[in-house]
Amino acid sequence: MHSLDRFAQAKLDALSGRHLRRALTETVREDGIWVERGGRRLLSFSCNDYLNLTQHPAIKQAAIAAIETYGAGSGASRLVTGNHPLYAALEERLARVKQAEAAVVFGSGYLANAGIIPVLVGKDGLVLLDELAHACLFAGAQLSRGRVVTFRHNDVTHARELLAAHRAEHDRALIVTDGVFSMDGDLAPVDALLALADEHDAWLMTDDAHGLGVVGGGRGSSFTGNTHTQVPLQMGTLSKAVGAYGGYLCASAPVVDLMRNRARTLIYSTGLPPSAVAAAIAALDLIEREPAYAALPVRKARDFTRAVGLPDAQSPIVPIVIGDEQDTLDASAMLAGEGFLAAAIRPPTVPAGTARLRLTFTAQHPDEEIARLAGLVRDRILS
Ligand SMILES: *Cc1c(COP(=O)(O)O)cnc(C)c1O
Repeated sequence: MHSLDRFAQAKLDALSGRHLRRALTETVREDGIWVERGGRRLLSFSCNDYLNLTQHPAIKQAAIAAIETYGAGSGASRLVTGNHPLYAALEERLARVKQAEAAVVFGSGYLANAGIIPVLVGKDGLVLLDELAHACLFAGAQLSRGRVVTFRHNDVTHARELLAAHRAEHDRALIVTDGVFSMDGDLAPVDALLALADEHDAWLMTDDAHGLGVVGGGRGSSFTGNTHTQVPLQMGTLSKAVGAYGGYLCASAPVVDLMRNRARTLIYSTGLPPSAVAAAIAALDLIEREPAYAALPVRKARDFTRAVGLPDAQSPIVPIVIGDEQDTLDASAMLAGEGFLAAAIRPPTVPAGTARLRLTFTAQHPDEEIARLAGLVRDRILS
């Protein structure tokens, strides 16, 4: 065996031994909620398509029309010839929804985070991250070559101690958090974090991948309190509730212009296909027009948590933490036997010892199926 293959095989064997080996499972999504896997039809509680917009007829039609007009791909980086006319419309729409001065669209949420953070912080800077922040925020922080420090999850007091201890050693400081935590479904204390940032001349960045379209009247986590929290760096994705693809940053005009000049993942990566941009515009139209529809995923998640006896859901994401990896896989298999897709999430996606089922609720999940799922989780998993 070649040393390269020996290396790969040994790594895979080690993962298998710890029940951490993963595989890609072919999945056909029939509509917003039903999927077909291995010849079986399952009701999915594992998609991030919170508003089921990936399958919305008007949105699909917008994508098809964009292909007919502008082609299947964009042909180059946005800074060369890839900046088709749909981008300006999307960025204007995003800025309006997030009440920001401007917006810039990246190739994906991951690319956005990998690009944004190194523009703002260099090797003399400090990045303070919530310990449960998404992996691509850590990737962006590491690419900045600055000092990366984590604070305990949602613990503003701990973040304050760390800033007091370290802020003076750095030229610039960035506080970074998920707005809605992707594996836990809870919200960040954005108000308190913004006040803390202001106290220490630090900048606050929220990743609202799971906020846009579903919390704060569809506008995201800066809009969940009684007043609008003026977060200066609101990042997010167009691939979840928006149902398309791409990432974005909403910020002031100079910050957005700086991103266009300096963000390497924007400059050195091809522009999005026109179809993705058109679909995102059509989806944002719908989200702005129909706040009652946008409120459904959280309402359905809350119906579920009440039926099971868990704390009220704050977002469409509800974790059922089991702990052991094999037990979690078994629980997922049990639910599949009952017709539900509830994917097992294992380390390193979540901390060791907290393997879980991560359930996501969407606008079109039937209430009676939610009740049936709640009964199974209560009686056969949590009891
Ligand atoms: C999914 C996700 C991303 C990545 O967005 P993509 O557009 O899928 O690359 C970033 N941050 C969080 C919190 C996410 O959940």
